[in-house]
Amino acid sequence: MNIDFESPVTVLSGCGKKRAEHLKVLGIENIGQLLRHFPRGYQNRGDVKPIDKSSVGIQGAYVLTVSSVPVSVRIPGGRTLTKCKGFDGDRSATLVFFNRPYVKDILNVGCTFRFWGKLSEGKTGFELFPSAIEPITDGRELKKLIPIYPLTEGITQSFISGIILNALTSLSPGAYKEVLPERIRKALGVCEISEAYKNIHTPENAEMVEIGRNRFIAEELFIFACSVAGAKSGRKGISGKKMDAAKSRLYDFVDSLPYTLTRAQSKVISEIRKDMTGDHPMARLVSGDVGSGKTVCAAAAAYIAVKNGTQCALMAPTEILASQHFRELSGFFEKLNIKCGYLSGSLTAAQKRNVCKKLESGDIDFVIGTHALLSEGVVFKDLGLVITDEQHRFGVFQRAGLTEKGERPHVLVMSATPIPRTLALILCGDLDISVVDELPPGRQPVDTIVIGERHRERLNGFIKAQVESGKQVYIVCPAVENSEEDVEKDESDFIRFYVEVNTEKLPKLKSAVEYEENLRTKVFPQFKTAFIHGRMSGAEKYDIMNRFKNGDIDILVSTTVIEVGVNVPNATLMIVENAERFGLSQLHQLRGRVGRGKDKAYCILVSDASGEKAKERLEIMKKVSDGYKIAKYDLEMRGPGNFINFGSEKSFRQHGAFGFKLAGLCTDTVMLEKCFAEAEKLIADDPGLVSEENALLAKALKKTQGLTVSTIN
Ligand code: ADP
Ligand code: MG
Repeated sequence: MNIDFESPVTVLSGCGKKRAEHLKVLGIENIGQLLRHFPRGYQNRGDVKPIDKSSVGIQGAYVLTVSSVPVSVRIPGGRTLTKCKGFDGDRSATLVFFNRPYVKDILNVGCTFRFWGKLSEGKTGFELFPSAIEPITDGRELKKLIPIYPLTEGITQSFISGIILNALTSLSPGAYKEVLPERIRKALGVCEISEAYKNIHTPENAEMVEIGRNRFIAEELFIFACSVAGAKSGRKGISGKKMDAAKSRLYDFVDSLPYTLTRAQSKVISEIRKDMTGDHPMARLVSGDVGSGKTVCAAAAAYIAVKNGTQCALMAPTEILASQHFRELSGFFEKLNIKCGYLSGSLTAAQKRNVCKKLESGDIDFVIGTHALLSEGVVFKDLGLVITDEQHRFGVFQRAGLTEKGERPHVLVMSATPIPRTLALILCGDLDISVVDELPPGRQPVDTIVIGERHRERLNGFIKAQVESGKQVYIVCPAVENSEEDVEKDESDFIRFYVEVNTEKLPKLKSAVEYEENLRTKVFPQFKTAFIHGRMSGAEKYDIMNRFKNGDIDILVSTTVIEVGVNVPNATLMIVENAERFGLSQLHQLRGRVGRGKDKAYCILVSDASGEKAKERLEIMKKVSDGYKIAKYDLEMRGPGNFINFGSEKSFRQHGAFGFKLAGLCTDTVMLEKCFAEAEKLIADDPGLVSEENALLAKALKKTQGLTVSTIN
């Protein structure tokens, strides 16, 4: 029989029309799809267990000789129960089968079988409930590893393994098509495709599984990397607003800063300068830990754009952040004779019109704002640079939106949280990445303490001492109002690192509004307190943040609206109530709100959660202060899905698992890095993938388009 990967499954003997219908449910119509139906695991039947106490509760392989005649009895519900004894040379167990009276015909006394099942200890001794029986006969070796496939109605394990085996033996060696060019396959250090299929479906040992799996992982990741590299090289194929090197000098800028740049900041700024004075539009991500000083890097980029006669727009995800940037940057830039403007939804119509007019005429050089910048009425005279802060709140679409207001402007993205490198490659692989990998000098680490309700009195004493010494305090609660079981929703999309709330019983939620009322009326009537949350209007929030910044509020009770970016150096104490409810990276962000000045700062995590997991997570916060490490823990514990929000339901679904069947973002990082390196080389050599040896790769790439970063950008 001459079959290939395109042949319908019905060419396989044993697979009729009806079975083919069932297989369709699993997305299997042809041989290729069948062979890409990978096992979800393997039963290690080669590892034979003895019947004894240490094996109780274990799903395993037991080799037993039948030592009593099987007897069936009827039990209620019209079912049958069949039992006999099996002996392993040392001990006996009762073999128990529900509704399988036919086993009587197989289990002859004196014959030996390999059983797969779970051993338990019943009233009358050991019991085994086998799900598989294999006769042990001379001259036939039993397979050690048995693949277990995802199933659907009408499809059994034995059926699917049978036809997969059938397909593997029917395919001629020439039928296997290698998607990975030979050179790439070797560079990635993976086996040939035909070997990979055999290994993954019919392995003899765990090592073979690994070798096969690796080949498929390499393919998934490599195709993905190629699409990202393709997008990147597409950008490098177009010309951008090349800035003049002489006009892009930063001496004045650096001289006006109230501090000296760190080595890391200088490095990042020079990378930015190199991009902007280069031939192609910049597309760069600036990543860095909380407080590493990413803003000044963006400011340097803005300075270059403006000095070259173009405009710059900086978009922040919330009004609080946008106005904070405006206040900090406009003061600084006005001194350098750069005209700044602010645009947000909370301006009056007349104010908005005024800003728009000035943007169009070029009377504003640098505009800072919220997503209001994306409104139709906003037209630039000549937009040279687009900066988005804390980008992941936006989703990728809006990033594109602002870019369209200029003619191929340079793009700079500041990441909200430190993102592990692998994730950055996946999420923003089409961007070049700069990392601010150093904190400004003199930062003292924030002391992190975990306490329970019983320490409440002492905690209040500590708050009192801080406020009396002139410092300010944040208190973060998970809910807005009492009796809410719902954690406050973000104002906008955010990389959410979910906390597994269902598995452990958790204490009741504290709410910002009642908490503040209690402080104001009972605990600290002598201090100035206020609350802030996402349901307040932009103007109200702005007003409160302003008063907190100016020191008119001592204690600010808040929900997570203050989690990202807010900068009040005089605040030295961050208290997080119901700390068990927050993701690690989120806690790290919250902690990053303090310790921004010269004074010693503290982060107190209040939690009465008793679960082991919750405790372990809070312990990590105590021990680790490096945001990258914390993000890695989060990635490992919760998976990548929680990092990402691409801004739309559809793209999120597509990216939920990035369409990877086997690759894991946390486990296959080495392969991922290799794939990106090789993909970049390959695309540089053959941008259109037109050469013969890349033909199959080009085809595969086309098929997966729509699952890749490049298409949503
Ligand atoms: P993030 O990277 O979290 O956005 P910011 O840019 O808001 O951090 O900077 C955090 C604080 O550090 C700001 O108050 C900023 O003025 C200050 N800062 C930034 N760079 C330096 C530096 N080189 N030396 C001293 N302070 C700095
Ligand atoms: Mg910031």
